Amino acid sequence: MEIIQLEPVVIRKMSDLRDNQMSLGLFCLGCERWGEIIPDEWLSSGNKDVDYIIQRFKCGECGGAADKQVRSTTSLIFQK
Ligand SMILES: [Zn+2]
Repeated sequence: MEIIQLEPVVIRKMSDLRDNQMSLGLFCLGCERWGEIIPDEWLSSGNKDVDYIIQRFKCGECGGAADKQVRSTTSLIFQK
């Protein structure tokens, strides 16, 4: 019997986020502030195609570590 292994979609890098129309939301607990990284802008402005899971993002205001949340940009489209 043949065993078929399905490869799960692995999204670990900025380019993966971009290719899946996702963005990376960042939240600073210290400032209670949300920010967002748009992968397409991140990459086109010369930043590395980093592994966003291990990448530590720092708040531009207080320098604290930011919490990460992956967002699907496609779900942000609302229609009447
Ligand atoms: Zn902060």
